[in-house]
Amino acid sequence: MRVVVTGGAGFLGSHLCEALVRRGDTVVCADDLSTGRLENIEHLRHLGCEFVRADVTMPLELSGSVDAVAHLASPASPPDYLRLPLETLAVGSRGTENALRLATQHGARFVLASTSEVYGDPLVHPQHEEYWGNVNPIGPRSVYDEAKRYAEAVTTAYRGRRANTGILRIFNTYGPRMRPCDGRVVSSFIVQALSGEPLTVYGSGDQTRSFCYVDDLVRGLVAMIDSAEAGPLNIGNPQERTVRELAQLVLEITGSSSAIEFHRLPQNDPTRRRPVVTRVREALGWSPEVSIEEGLRRTVQWFAARPDAVAAAALLLRGGQSGADRGRPAADQLPVQAPPAPVAEQGAPAQV
Ligand code: UDP
Repeated sequence: MRVVVTGGAGFLGSHLCEALVRRGDTVVCADDLSTGRLENIEHLRHLGCEFVRADVTMPLELSGSVDAVAHLASPASPPDYLRLPLETLAVGSRGTENALRLATQHGARFVLASTSEVYGDPLVHPQHEEYWGNVNPIGPRSVYDEAKRYAEAVTTAYRGRRANTGILRIFNTYGPRMRPCDGRVVSSFIVQALSGEPLTVYGSGDQTRSFCYVDDLVRGLVAMIDSAEAGPLNIGNPQERTVRELAQLVLEITGSSSAIEFHRLPQNDPTRRRPVVTRVREALGWSPEVSIEEGLRRTVQWFAARPDAVAAAALLLRGGQSGADRGRPAADQLPVQAPPAPVAEQGAPAQV
């Protein structure tokens, strides 16, 4: 099978390329390297992974057969899409249309990497696929959220014209190859813990996320490519943690004595997030297998083996300046005085 992976040099994309190559597929990795990195796929290039430097907002021309297109191209971390607002909108809209055209021209399976961000700051908890979401259309996250919502709409319209399309809504995912300075919570906390810098918790740290280890996620992506499921299917680990619990866990696993520091919560930061994964379990037989403790251990090991990159990222992340606050007034960037309260024993969030 010949699979085109847009965004294939990124964190998730490179793991997907690797999984496909390892099972014997031929892979075309299309990436403009705006947030992806060639070193992520360097080791795959002699194994049948071809790299094409391409901006998918421009028409995609590829010779030879194509059996599947996995469309992952997009800035994905909040600091990245805040820095690249128009590019994020373009890749979610024009980029998705181009990827869909490529797939239909070849009669190929198309899989859209959508996101839990389509639920915005959810009023329904946990999130099931029937929920339509609570997105601020002009908020700072809207460039990503609305681009992905449009991407889902156009993918569904193509399905209406008999294209073999599928939508996966990917919840927070972490693992090796996250960019140390991309400003996401898992990479930032690990970098800070390994460098003896304070862990920068935004807000009170009571907001929740559900973190999925990348190998689990990629298994689901491959199963989706192989299926004819339309979705949307949530995919993620339903084990929910507060950001403060995550900080404690990273400190334990790294053995770090870094402090925890509280900073202003970025605007429209979702309060809680946990996927209902019944559908994906039924449709693809998928469920996560790697615990957060084990996944974090593997991720910490990967970061620890790159001390130079970690030291450079620690400087960039210093004082919570990772980018979630970037572009906002200077006053917003000051640490917020919040008592470093002990980690709360938080019960299950209220059902709405
Ligand atoms: N966050 C934090 N400290 C950081 C980076 C992020 O407390 O240094 C918080 C962020 O405000 C959010 C959560 O961690 O509530 C997850 O952030 P991330 O950027 O990883 O992903 P998101 O789910 O918000 O897209």
